[in-house]
Amino acid sequence: MWVGVVSLFPEMIKTIAATGVMSRAIDTGGLRLEVFNPRDHAVDKRATVDDRPYGGGPGMVMMVEPLLAAINEAKTRAPKAPKVIYLSPQGRRLDQSGVVALAAEESLVLLAGRYEGIDERVVELSVDVELSIGDYVLTGGELAAMVVVDAVCRFLPGTLGNSESLTQESHLDGLLDYPHYTRPEKAGGLDVPPVLLSGDHRAVEEWRKRAALRRTWERRPDLLANRCLTDAELELLETRQAPAGRRRPSDDEWTSRR
Ligand code: SAM
Repeated sequence: MWVGVVSLFPEMIKTIAATGVMSRAIDTGGLRLEVFNPRDHAVDKRATVDDRPYGGGPGMVMMVEPLLAAINEAKTRAPKAPKVIYLSPQGRRLDQSGVVALAAEESLVLLAGRYEGIDERVVELSVDVELSIGDYVLTGGELAAMVVVDAVCRFLPGTLGNSESLTQESHLDGLLDYPHYTRPEKAGGLDVPPVLLSGDHRAVEEWRKRAALRRTWERRPDLLANRCLTDAELELLETRQAPAGRRRPSDDEWTSRR
């Protein structure tokens, strides 16, 4: 897959791409990543890429010409006509099914905004999709773009060592993942659940399925609301004592438990 990121801060992109699974995806050829800086396309001596908003108001707005030129440069480098995605808090919120769909694309251009955002005409002229990584506002689109690249590159062939880990993770199956444990068997006064040490693969599988269902029930009941639970899954859930888990954790609980 080829990804072009349009950004005023190429170093941010390159630094993130240089570590972990993403760098492996680049090394093994599954991912080709290029960065295009709108500042290289500025027309004045000071390399201006932003200006004050028409109508007044705070902050600066990224200008049309340098952005369009950088997007066009990216398009000429792409092996196949790319989808152009503007990372924006106003876009459709990214989820795992969106990630899977993006991973099937051959080429993508990710446009990272800065300041108050980009001139709306760039969106009208050159953007296919606006994508948000969550209902909060970042200072720039670079981290959002790299969240997209990170999530997508896990699906590229040869990127993950054990492709089974792709099929057993939060959200893929509409459920959160089950809890994981590794050595030692005792830590901080807590034991690993005995079933995981039993060697009984069926029992382990059932325990994990129940744990995943219970977690989802407790933490993200909204995910179950849209899911048609199988009889077996309902049975697993009914082994729970009380449906108190349906209560959504308060904000304090979210921050203290995670
Ligand atoms: N004024 C804009 C608004 O309220 O919609 C926010 C601009 S934000 C300070 C600057 C840039 O950060 C945006 O152009 C966008 O590229 C990026 N950004 C901020 N929050 C984001 C989010 N939740 N998802 C994706 N990109 C985001």
